[in-house]
Amino acid sequence: MRNIYADHAATTPLFPQVIDGMADFMRNHPGNPSSLHAMGREAKQYLERARDSVAALIGAPAEQVYFTSGGTEANNMAIFGTANLAGRGHIITGGTEHHAVLDSCLHLAKQGFEVTVLGADEFGMTDPQEVKRALRPDTVLVSVMHVNNEVGTVNPIAEIGALVREAGALFHVDAVQSAGKLAIDVNRLPVDMLTFSSHKINGPKGVGALYKRPEARLARLTFGGGQEKKVRSGTENLPGIVGFGLAADLTRKKMPVLTAEWAVLRDRLIRRVLEEIPHSYLNGHPEQRAPHNANLSCDFIEGEALLLILDSKGVCCSAGSACSSGSAEPSHVLTAMGLSEGRKSSALRFSFGYGNTAEDVDYIIDVMKAGVERLRRASPFCSN
Ligand SMILES: *Cc1c(COP(=O)(O)O)cnc(C)c1O
Repeated sequence: MRNIYADHAATTPLFPQVIDGMADFMRNHPGNPSSLHAMGREAKQYLERARDSVAALIGAPAEQVYFTSGGTEANNMAIFGTANLAGRGHIITGGTEHHAVLDSCLHLAKQGFEVTVLGADEFGMTDPQEVKRALRPDTVLVSVMHVNNEVGTVNPIAEIGALVREAGALFHVDAVQSAGKLAIDVNRLPVDMLTFSSHKINGPKGVGALYKRPEARLARLTFGGGQEKKVRSGTENLPGIVGFGLAADLTRKKMPVLTAEWAVLRDRLIRRVLEEIPHSYLNGHPEQRAPHNANLSCDFIEGEALLLILDSKGVCCSAGSACSSGSAEPSHVLTAMGLSEGRKSSALRFSFGYGNTAEDVDYIIDVMKAGVERLRRASPFCSN
């Protein structure tokens, strides 16, 4: 049986060089970067070298990058850090955001902040004009993601950021699904804070970063040793950070080639499914779409049933509800897009990455076609 990992939007395998680099670092450099002695100074050098690498991925000055325990913490830091400093006010976010953003904002609503959750169009895109209409004099923060993790739609963040800046609010972008997939240069984007994560770019889990301009001031959420310029106390996860740095370097060098390859796989899967499986649909934007993501629905089947068939044939992918693990709730993203019940409950996300081949795609299609046929034969709602 084949073993095909097509769930790179959930997490990615480590680049072999990252594993080697981390193993070497852990074996030979056990120091604490806050220590003054030689081993501490050496650890500090590794920390700052990794910061240079990670910052370079988004064109940021290294001193504006703060390491965190991942994308979730960076999102929480940006949102609660801004809100806690402001004390009160209005916050805008999108209805298709990752729960790390959406649930943080909804929690602030319970604490007395006014929160506007924007709708999305049928492709899952956030409309800049809707952001403009929602902006108020007391808006302190707007948080809109770059690439949606479920459907891969790319939001017009440059346009949105320009409007937010004009209104004098801070703009935060969850770029976990776009860093390493699309070219990002924070010098040319009206973005005040940007989140990205190591394990989505073939680095280790449990480490991420928040880019933050000096103007974006944050209340402290952790108190302790004052690491990361007092923004995020706690002894740094140095093996993870070193791995993140190596992954960022490799990603930056290989990105144009790899992402072009993934886009070919994505397009092959989308084209063949739409052509060869009747009543199938692409979810998300047909063009403004991340290179690694294909989210597809087939009427008259349950996505989770098809996922289990794919799994039994060695294919790993995600169902629409994958992001709230264990729950059979329909995806809030597909709901915000206004999709029909059938399309929501049958949605499967395939996300490509390092190691995938065209043969993988053809195998996935074979299994999918047979699986959809089998499930439809058993479906009382399907007449063909
Ligand atoms: C994976 C992901 C996160 C969470 O990042 P972690 O490093 O797993 O905490 C946040 N936002 C998006 C869009 C993601 O895809």
